[in-house]
Amino acid sequence: MGETSIFECGACGYKSGHIRWGVGENDSSKRFLPGVCRHCREIVEIDLTGHDVLIEHFTCSKCGRPVFFFEKAETFECPRCGAPNLRITQEKYW
Ligand SMILES: [Zn+2]
Ligand SMILES: [Zn+2]
Repeated sequence: MGETSIFECGACGYKSGHIRWGVGENDSSKRFLPGVCRHCREIVEIDLTGHDVLIEHFTCSKCGRPVFFFEKAETFECPRCGAPNLRITQEKYW
């Protein structure tokens, strides 16, 4: 079961889009994870469906540059101002 979340920064007011992560509830072959595009300075959804996280590189759907996964699942850094501890609002499951 996957979650949809919004990441918000209390320091600069940055707010992400609706980011899916986890594995699809209805289609377990679908997998997404949140990542960061340092070029767009956005948190983006990375589509892992059918990909191998360990060997493949993933790119931003907007600018085509490489995206990075968050290193620790517990602390999310703001892509705009670098402040730690983004607030995560959990929305619906997908
Ligand atoms: Zn910020
Ligand atoms: Zn980008």
